[in-house]
Amino acid sequence: MTNERGPVSPHAHAEVDLAAVAHNTALFAERTKASVIAVVKADGFGHGAAAVARTALDSGADWLATATTAESLRLRADGITAPTLSWLLGPVEDFRDPISAGIDLSASSEEQLARIAADASLAGLTAAVHLKVDTGLHRAGALLPDWPELVRRARDLELGGSIRIRGIWSHLRSGTDATPPSVGSPVAIFEEALVAARRAGLRPEVRHLANSVAALAAPETHYELVRPGIGLYGVEPDPRQAFGLRGAMTLRTRLALTKRVPAGSGVSYEHDYVTDRESNLGLVPLGYADGIPFTATGRAEVWVAGRRHPVAGRIAMNQFVVDLGEHIAEPGDEVIIFGPGERGEPTVTDWARWARTVPHEILIGVGSRISRYYVGAPAAREDGPCHV
Ligand SMILES: *Cc1c(COP(=O)(O)O)cnc(C)c1O
Repeated sequence: MTNERGPVSPHAHAEVDLAAVAHNTALFAERTKASVIAVVKADGFGHGAAAVARTALDSGADWLATATTAESLRLRADGITAPTLSWLLGPVEDFRDPISAGIDLSASSEEQLARIAADASLAGLTAAVHLKVDTGLHRAGALLPDWPELVRRARDLELGGSIRIRGIWSHLRSGTDATPPSVGSPVAIFEEALVAARRAGLRPEVRHLANSVAALAAPETHYELVRPGIGLYGVEPDPRQAFGLRGAMTLRTRLALTKRVPAGSGVSYEHDYVTDRESNLGLVPLGYADGIPFTATGRAEVWVAGRRHPVAGRIAMNQFVVDLGEHIAEPGDEVIIFGPGERGEPTVTDWARWARTVPHEILIGVGSRISRYYVGAPAAREDGPCHV
C-alpha cells in the first residue's frame, strides 16, 4: 500500500482535522486586524500543505508562505493561486520558474536582489520581492548598517522594471521579545528599516513581522500581515497563556501484540526498563522511523484503553512497548500517540517536552510510512486509506 510519501503502514495513520485548522485560522484572523499568511512549509508542518492551504484560505487566510520555492511551486501545481511567498533562496537557484508562477521571493542582500532581477529580466517579467531586514535573529535579513544601500539598490532595480518591492519583513528571535518596543527591540529596528526604505522611495504594500505567538500576544508586531505557522496546527505558542487553539493531528495505531510478564522483566534494548511487578505489556508498531522520538524514552506515555500508560524501555526504530500494568488489552486495541488532548491523551506539546525538542519537530517528524487521513471539512480528502 502506498501514498505519495511512499509505502504506508496498514496499522497507523495521522488523522488531520481540517475543522481544527479552520478554527485556528479564523482565530488568528479575528484576533488581528492584519491579514493572515498561512505558513505551510515542510508539507504544512507534516499535515499536508495543499489540504492545509485550501482550508486556511477558506477560513480567513489571504496569503501562503513556504520556505523553498519548490514547496510553493508544488502549491501552484495543486492549483492554488493565492499570493505565496518563499523566503529560503538556494545559493545557485534559477528563479525563472517561481517568478513565472507568480511566487513572491524574499531578498536579504544585494547579491540575492541582483540574481532575482537578472532572472526576472530573462523571463521578461517583474519579480515581486519582500526585502528582509535582520531584527536580531541573525539568520537571514540584512543588518541595519547594510540596509540603506540595499533599499537604494532595490529602488534602482524597481525603476528598471525587473523587480517590485511588494513587502518589507523580518522574523522575531522569540515570540515574546517584541514587547515592549524599546530602543534596540525588534520592532524598533523594523521601524528604523521602514523609515529608510521610505526615504529611498520604496512604497511596499505589506509589512510583516509576527509569527504565531506574536500574532496572538504582541499586537504592535502586526502591520499588514501576520505569519502564523505552529498555531494553525493547534499548538499553543505562548507558554504563559492559552488562546483556544485546537490540535489538528491525532496519531493513532493499534497494539500489535500483548503479553503478561513476571516482575523483574527487562524491556527493550539494553533493559533500561525493568518491570517492578507482574505486568501486561503491549507492543506498539511505531518507532523513530515513524517520528516517535528515541529521546522521549523514559518519559513518554501513550493512551490505551481510556488512560495514559508509560512507554517501557527504549523506543526502537519500528516499535516500542507500553506497560499496561494490570490493565487488560488485546492486540488490535487502539493506541493514541498524541491528539488534541481533549480526552486526556498526550499532546504534541507533551511529546516535545519528553523528547527535549519543540512541537514543530514532533509534527514534522511524523514519518512517510504513516498515511494522512483528513476529517472535519466539506472538502475533506484522504491521501491514504484508513484501516485503523
Ligand atoms: C516558520 C516561520 C514562521 C511561523 O512561525 P511559528 O512560530 O511556527 O508561527 C513565520 N515566519 C518565518 C520566517 C518562519 O520561518
